[in-house]
Amino acid sequence: MYNVAIIGAGPAGIFAALEIVNLKPEWKVVLIDKGPRIEKRTCPLREGSPKCTNCKRCGLLCGWGGAGAFSDGKLTLTPDVGGHLVDYVSRKHAEDLIGYADELYLKYGATDEVFGTDIKVYEELAHQAMLAELKLVYSPVRHLGTERSLDVLKNMQDFLDERITILNNVSAQTLIVENEQVKGIKLDNGDIISAQYTIIAPGREGADWLTHEFAQHKIGMVNNAVDVGVRVELPAPVFEPITSKLYESKLIYHSPTFGDEVRTFCMNPNGEVVQENYSGIATVNGHSYANYKTPNTNFALLVSEKFTEPFKEPIQYGQHIARLANMVGGGILVQRFGDLLDGRRSTPERIKNSIITPTLSCATPGDLSLVIPYRQMISIIEMLQALDKIAPGTASRYTLLYGIEVKFYSARVKLTNELETEGVRNLFAIGDGAGVTRGLLQASASGVYVARNICARG
Ligand SMILES: Cc1cc2nc3c(=O)[nH]c(=O)nc-3n(C[C@H](O)[C@H](O)[C@H](O)COP(=O)(O)OP(=O)(O)OC[C@H]3O[C@@H](n4cnc5c(N)ncnc54)[C@H](O)[C@@H]3O)c2cc1C
Repeated sequence: MYNVAIIGAGPAGIFAALEIVNLKPEWKVVLIDKGPRIEKRTCPLREGSPKCTNCKRCGLLCGWGGAGAFSDGKLTLTPDVGGHLVDYVSRKHAEDLIGYADELYLKYGATDEVFGTDIKVYEELAHQAMLAELKLVYSPVRHLGTERSLDVLKNMQDFLDERITILNNVSAQTLIVENEQVKGIKLDNGDIISAQYTIIAPGREGADWLTHEFAQHKIGMVNNAVDVGVRVELPAPVFEPITSKLYESKLIYHSPTFGDEVRTFCMNPNGEVVQENYSGIATVNGHSYANYKTPNTNFALLVSEKFTEPFKEPIQYGQHIARLANMVGGGILVQRFGDLLDGRRSTPERIKNSIITPTLSCATPGDLSLVIPYRQMISIIEMLQALDKIAPGTASRYTLLYGIEVKFYSARVKLTNELETEGVRNLFAIGDGAGVTRGLLQASASGVYVARNICARG
């Protein structure tokens, strides 16, 4: 019998565990993850495999550290980016939680370098952006880099190893609920975990499972927007005037044709594009290293679609587009912006005759217009043209577009302000999988917040 069971050892689950240990060191806590310990995590693509091998449990996303483990470790120090914490707590409270989580990252070895704090520089860039009808969001960033990110997570694992029970390579299969109160979890190896409180933090990878499980227990979900788009890769000098000052710029645009919101996301100066695998579907992402630099910069352009009644399956919608890209390209597609505008596919020869070499070598040169719906495609083209005004060269014919990038934070759980589910007592949901957050620091902060709420109940 545990006091608290936590499903998912991503930043949300880890920070929940750290805060419980801090506040209630005598409590028995179990943290369950379907992936391995941090030192056992591998991804064939990172080991040099030319193609994603569709591992049953994606090595990039599952295991200690969750999706954040091999991530770039960009900690965005504002509640305006990376989640919806301000929907549950006041802005000041959200800032305090983010500040506290950031201090924990520092305590476990994060670098003390923060980009984008100079208000004057921000105002100058925001002014330029405004002239191109773009909104620049103020968002200072602490950048760990993938290698340091792994060290920080290892330090947290070492600390918690001695204080709680950690179960790896085992999945939570079903929630045990009696009289509208959670009693524990059944694991896929048949074991039963009994616990007074359960925190669910399965990340985007586990969002489908969470939706299914919550439907069984009649826990309400609300449709979130689904974000579909591409990853853009261009020569680093194109964005250097901005990235050298801010590291990452969060730019928002409303496409003239459809009025949809398009935003830059996860910018990686001198980084590389990577492939992810969501339950057998290949999608694209990006990261950068602290000590290894490529000549390219990449970032996502995401178009947000919020669906109205009667449509209720935004996750499936995103998956459907990603599957289509996989079908056409046998995996990830890459296309030069010029080829897209000219209405022709990119070929290996055309990619070779470019001024930029793709960092994701397994991507197939092809035609994204066969895959991305007209609405999102036009919005992406218009955004690239707007960005070209503040970073000339963005809309170059050589700019590479990888498809597709999709964010499955679609289903948002109906939660109280304490992040407890409406309908099942003592069951809490946090992080990206619950639709509460979209980034490392807010996911971590949601873990701290929920831990405090639970500990206050005793
Ligand atoms: C390549 C990449 C780069 C990124 N870069 C950044 C960045 O620079 N900055 C930023 O802010 N964000 C970044 N992100 C996003 C960030 O990683 C996520 O927002 C964050 O990890 C979400 O945390 P989480 O704890 O909610 O979920 P996750 O980190 O996804 O962790 C969920 C964990 O739950 C486990 N799990 C799922 N289902 C079950 C189950 N049924 N039973 C047991 N375990 C289960 C999974 O194995 C996983 O380990 C990046 C993501 C990726 C993929």
